[in-house]
Amino acid sequence: MNLPPVTDLPLIADVAIDCPGRDSYSYLVPPELAAAIRPGDCVSVPFGPRRLRGFVVSLERRQPSSDYVTRDIVGHQPEVTLPPHLLRLIQWGARYYRCSMGEFLAGAVPAPVREGAAPERQVIVAKTVGFVSTLTQPLNKRQQMVYDALPADPVLLSEACRAAATTRATLEKLAAVGALTISEDQQIRELRLSARQEHHPLTGEQQIAIDIVKTALVKGVSQPFLLHGVTGSGKTLVYLELAAQVIAAGRQVLFLLPEIALTPQLAARVRNRFERVAVLHSGFTDGERAEQWRRVAAGEIDLVVGTRSALFAPFPAPGLIIVDEEHEQSYKQESVPRYHARDLAIVYAGQLGIPVLLGSATPSMESIHNARQGRYQVLSLKNRPLGGKLPAPILVDMREECHAQRRSATICRELLTRLKQVKDAGEQAIVLLNRRGWSPVISCQSCGTTLTCKHCDISLTYHRAAAKVKCHYCGNEGPLPRTCPSCSQATLSTFGLGTEQLATQLAADVPGLTVLRVDADTVAERQGHAKLFQAFGNGAADCLVGTQMVAKGLDFPRVTLVGIVAADRGLSLPDFRAAERTFQLVAQVAGRAGRGERPGTVVVQAFDTEAPALRCAVDHRPKTFVDAELALRQQYGYPPYAGLIRFMWHGESAAKVQLVATAHGQILNEVAQGCVVLGPNPAAVAFSKNQHRWHALIKAGSRGAAQAFLDRIDAAGGLKRHAAVHMAVDVDPYQTS
Ligand code: ADP
Ligand code: ZN
Repeated sequence: MNLPPVTDLPLIADVAIDCPGRDSYSYLVPPELAAAIRPGDCVSVPFGPRRLRGFVVSLERRQPSSDYVTRDIVGHQPEVTLPPHLLRLIQWGARYYRCSMGEFLAGAVPAPVREGAAPERQVIVAKTVGFVSTLTQPLNKRQQMVYDALPADPVLLSEACRAAATTRATLEKLAAVGALTISEDQQIRELRLSARQEHHPLTGEQQIAIDIVKTALVKGVSQPFLLHGVTGSGKTLVYLELAAQVIAAGRQVLFLLPEIALTPQLAARVRNRFERVAVLHSGFTDGERAEQWRRVAAGEIDLVVGTRSALFAPFPAPGLIIVDEEHEQSYKQESVPRYHARDLAIVYAGQLGIPVLLGSATPSMESIHNARQGRYQVLSLKNRPLGGKLPAPILVDMREECHAQRRSATICRELLTRLKQVKDAGEQAIVLLNRRGWSPVISCQSCGTTLTCKHCDISLTYHRAAAKVKCHYCGNEGPLPRTCPSCSQATLSTFGLGTEQLATQLAADVPGLTVLRVDADTVAERQGHAKLFQAFGNGAADCLVGTQMVAKGLDFPRVTLVGIVAADRGLSLPDFRAAERTFQLVAQVAGRAGRGERPGTVVVQAFDTEAPALRCAVDHRPKTFVDAELALRQQYGYPPYAGLIRFMWHGESAAKVQLVATAHGQILNEVAQGCVVLGPNPAAVAFSKNQHRWHALIKAGSRGAAQAFLDRIDAAGGLKRHAAVHMAVDVDPYQTS
């Protein structure tokens, strides 16, 4: 057979497009683009009747397929290009998490960048520090509040608006009287950010940790480190010192956090230390986001701080990855691509040959196991540089409390007494309850019927101030019915405690106590929690009541008391990580109370006070908890001793969902080969948002075995898609019910 010489063959680009199924589609590269186009470049291509953007995965001279007409690339956006190492990471991620490369890219590259939003010149707001309102330059009360809320350092316009909860128009009025300047000049931001560093001599422990990682940096070895340090032990300073080293060597730093809006102090510390920093958050405009991405790719930024997707910042030469609070579940993305940023960070660092630093006061079982196996090197910070002992939490048995109070008590006397003391001393308190609304259950005292959502298998929550019943799954809401929908008697009652009721009750039980509530209801307005936290920090209330979201932002020096109500509630959830999460919550909260000079107290209320997760967290015995928990995981075959995969089906027709799930289940069982197939069966919430839900859980001996299981499914021809039933695969799931 006579093949034409390679150079005569047409140049074909394999392009990843955001749709499920294939990783890439073939397109002809028109001759005028042939010299310029590279793998990683963003291109426009015809796709069916549409014109879409995608990324070139590879280029090759080859014969076009004779099975279909290969179409031409119609546009090239060379200004948006992924560096080769990032493309390789995404390739790995798409394979491991079983989605197409295009789907993964859609999760990794911000939409405005993919869609070609024009980078917007950055407008910087610089506060005139020390500006005082005078007769000639008066600020009204509202303007003064805006001025006070602005960060001391120059920030992007959108960030300024967010921080002060205001608009550009208001800021311009302030600029007119000289309280601030608004300009397009990037320079001011960088000039004004003089290195106001934290000048602490490092503690011995910090120095040791830094030296060990520095050695790895210098040698260029890829090593994961687990920085295990109690809260307040100075982990952040270790991160910053190492980042400085990497930046000085001309490379860049990826700094991941579980949540950015709730940790403004950390962003501020990073900004104070380094000049060329990008803090990635959701508040940017499309143009700002595009500009941010461009600058990162152009090497104009040294360090990126952001949540999980910041891992995909297109740095030319990343030198270090930091994953703070590595145990946090928010590193797992719960929609396609369903990646876990910490796990992917480990892979990325391995590919790049650089160190990765995981930090936590309460590391995940996975990371502890990896450390014990010698895969991660542990760096310990056992002491707080500023001194300050961890408070010994008080665990209150609510069974005894109910007995003593002779009624079904919801708040213990210990907590009430201490709240009163805190109030009298002019200090502050935080009380946590991970359930919003007034009451989570409404049921009929005549017939026992519980009100449930008509779109979900979920009981409705009563919200008193709004005078509504709401479904916390789908958001459906309505008025509270006067009579039971089942027996028509007017005997509906509410049961159980939510944050709304807790806040009301605390204010009633402790005379004069002012209470501020922070949960998804009070935060509904955009960025509302920043405002609420700020108000609390400024002393607007004695007590902050909130859901778990407040546990992350607990950095208030005047807080000397933290209460956790129904601390054991999470333990009853059908989730193998329930004990781990409860332990982490209590241990984290206990570590954060009393961060200022004053000592702190933590009161933990529970019915099941013997639960090891609570006992060990309260007694500061993490090793006892971890040993017992790991033993259980091993015995029952859960991570870190197993690789899990979850299959999920949902659709409007219960019969069709069952049919498809069962048919797929047969294939799962056929390829099981030693893996355990649990299900398929209806999910714990079997009906949600008008969708019937089934699932199956695969337990394999390891992550590798789980991947092999998925490969066997592919080899068997895959699972046949059904138009009316949506199917999803979750590799290393965090939601398992
Ligand atoms: P973590 O990140 O472990 O919770 P931080 O880094 O926030 O702890 O440190 C807690 C406090 O201790 C901060 O106020 C920090 O400025 C201070 N700190 C950290 N390292 C030192 C040190 N070597 N000497 C004095 N203070 C320090
Ligand atoms: Zn619902």
